[in-house]
Amino acid sequence: MKTPNQYLASLPTTIFTIMSQLAVKHGAINLGQGFPDTEGPQDIIQVAADALRDGRNQYAPLTGLPELREAVAASNRRFYGLEVDPATEVVVTSGATEALAACLMAVVEPGDEVVVIEPLYDTYLPALKLLGAVPRCVRLAPPHWSVPEAELRAAFGPKTKAIMLNSPMNPSGKVFVREELELIADLVREHDVYAICDEVYEHLTFHVKHIPLMTLPGMRERCMRIGSAGKSFSLTGWKVGYVTAPAALASVVAKAHQVLVFATAPNLQRAVAYGLNKDDGYYEGLSAQMETQRDLLRDGLHRLGFETLPADGSYFIVADISRHAAGRGDVEFARWLVEHAGVATIPVSAFYDPQGDAPPQNLIRFAFCKKPEILREALKRLEKALS
Ligand code: PMP
Ligand code: GLN
Repeated sequence: MKTPNQYLASLPTTIFTIMSQLAVKHGAINLGQGFPDTEGPQDIIQVAADALRDGRNQYAPLTGLPELREAVAASNRRFYGLEVDPATEVVVTSGATEALAACLMAVVEPGDEVVVIEPLYDTYLPALKLLGAVPRCVRLAPPHWSVPEAELRAAFGPKTKAIMLNSPMNPSGKVFVREELELIADLVREHDVYAICDEVYEHLTFHVKHIPLMTLPGMRERCMRIGSAGKSFSLTGWKVGYVTAPAALASVVAKAHQVLVFATAPNLQRAVAYGLNKDDGYYEGLSAQMETQRDLLRDGLHRLGFETLPADGSYFIVADISRHAAGRGDVEFARWLVEHAGVATIPVSAFYDPQGDAPPQNLIRFAFCKKPEILREALKRLEKALS
């Protein structure tokens, strides 16, 4: 028999699923996979439920319900001063995961190079490799995750078609600052390429401002900016994402969406439109609550002797395990923690190209998008296992 696609067949199951399965098996607290353990806002859920009873059950329009595209445009204006045409510059997708694949499909041809920044989210490399594109990885070095200018410059060349940028960044919690974005924007302009901007954690920053690359000079025409209702409304299971892009690109992203999914659940779209229009207080409350949880976990980890890396945004904080791991690598230590402490985490080496140089082995990622009492219990369990 002929073989199925060898690249996909050999792709390991995602680390998020592996650690969640281990968490269930060992009755562990799941600080691994990034999903909140509280329901999202009840009023948003009610709108989705009502929409099911209101004839919102057949195919939605290809690029999304008009009310959601309008809400995405309004949110671009409210938070970033971006003027966006809801009719031609917004595409609704089934999650940011689909949006990432659709944006890549929209711009790359086989053989094109795509600059990606490690540590990176685990769908980036498979998605671009399956399209025949070639990744050019640039590493940010812990603990400060600063951008290595010379290496970034060197990664761009005549074959570069796009850069993928994730800010606020998973797993590092880094929020790219203006000077770093300016450097990236210069390179994007100089090499005449596109930028796929994964901004799913846009509303989860802690006293630092999230700046979309799209707002920098010359970037409006080159960026595809991706948001996720899952993250902005603590409803990760809904898988509703949205791409904002200039019309010429959005129309091609829409073709990719047409091929991949065609249309996203209409009741969820209606509820997300309602959610996006919530007042500023909602968004401030979301990030304030997440920041409190970050502080709780970070301070607890410090008391246990872990050093943590700065985490200005996202659901995640990275800890250095050197003091406790007794020579074990991050994968081994994370397995030990889930089995012996009853706390699941994610080894940071999972966020590196398996074909690249050896990744750091001394870092694990904790998710703090969990109830304070759960974080306290996790810290107690860690203390017991490590003492
Ligand atoms: N990008 C990043 C950086 C993420 O952490 C996630 C996490 N879930 C996604 C994309 C995917 O988002 P969605 O669930 O909306 O597909
Ligand atoms: N984005 C989530 C995380 O980083 C996981 C999403 C998934 O499991 N695919 O934990």
